[in-house]
Amino acid sequence: MEVAKNKRDIRAFTKDQLRSFFESQGDKAFRGNQVYEWLWQKSAHTFEDMTNISKETRQMLENNFVINHIKVDQMQRSSDGTIKNAVRLHDDLIVESVLIPTKTRTTACVSSQVGCSLDCKFCATSRLKRMRNLNPDEIYDQVVAIDNESRLYFDRPLSNIVFMGMGEPLMNYNNVLKAIDKITSPEGMGMSPKRITVSTSGVPKMIRKMADEEVKFKLAVSLHSAIDEIRTSIMPFNATFTLADLREALEYWFQKTKSRITYEYVVWDGINDTQKDVNALVEFCRFAPSKVNLIEYNPIDDGEFRQANNAAIEMYVNTLERNGITVTVRRSRGKDIDAACGQLANKS
Ligand code: SAH
Repeated sequence: MEVAKNKRDIRAFTKDQLRSFFESQGDKAFRGNQVYEWLWQKSAHTFEDMTNISKETRQMLENNFVINHIKVDQMQRSSDGTIKNAVRLHDDLIVESVLIPTKTRTTACVSSQVGCSLDCKFCATSRLKRMRNLNPDEIYDQVVAIDNESRLYFDRPLSNIVFMGMGEPLMNYNNVLKAIDKITSPEGMGMSPKRITVSTSGVPKMIRKMADEEVKFKLAVSLHSAIDEIRTSIMPFNATFTLADLREALEYWFQKTKSRITYEYVVWDGINDTQKDVNALVEFCRFAPSKVNLIEYNPIDDGEFRQANNAAIEMYVNTLERNGITVTVRRSRGKDIDAACGQLANKS
């Protein structure tokens, strides 16, 4: 049997393509279904694992294809139960994903890119230079790895997924959507899309596209300021994707999906901690049902940003509540192992 010089990544094939491939080999199309099930539902790491496929066929697959599985290189456990995985990709690049357990849930926080092309000043990931998009299978594999850890350490399957790891999911739109398709499909993990949240720093064109495609997962937007000048100073891409554009795209999103938008928001000392800042946020929240998640700032080794004091946080909570906007104050998890929001930077 001939061994192909450039073996192809078998998980880049759809089920139909696999079926056609087997037919072209003079085999039954159904063989494609079997292999597909091994690859996705059973997460086989080698062709050798595919025990209901003949030895000869497995060898033929081995000669023509590779299965590029991720490898969890290192797993760290925080004192609060949070687990961080350093995930090695087939080309030796590393991304991180996090398992966050609470009493009732286990949430996987997964990465969508190696590094990030955006330049949020307060985020450790933005300092990583090397960047490539993750493939759908690399995203899917992070979820499978965390689901296994959840069963092993917490005796329950994974309940939720947030795309809040490294990268900007909407800058890798097609692959993120393909991964979500696999995660929600009965042929993959069969998880409800309502348990999945995609977090974006706000790419208006892609938010519209998602709305048009009537996706069923939830949307979170990292807002941090509803005043252009301030937002641009901490998230420079806001000069291109302005708040007015973002707001229109979000309005469109709500019209199409009827799905409430969550805003992630850190209050920093001297940056966005005045009444004027909260008022702008209230205005921004008015046009579509929204919820605000005030997240704790996780310092990233520079003195530029400091979490605002409790009085400022209280002012935010009171003003938002008075205006009928749901607000939650989220405590950080996994800080001691650099696993909290904005700390993922392949440090260890
Ligand atoms: N690029 C996407 C996905 C990353 S989500 C997005 O921006 O939404 C990571 C979340 O953590 C974002 O809301 C981000 O703004 C926030 N974040 C980044 N750095 C942080 C830090 N140092 N402390 C707290 N939150 C931070």
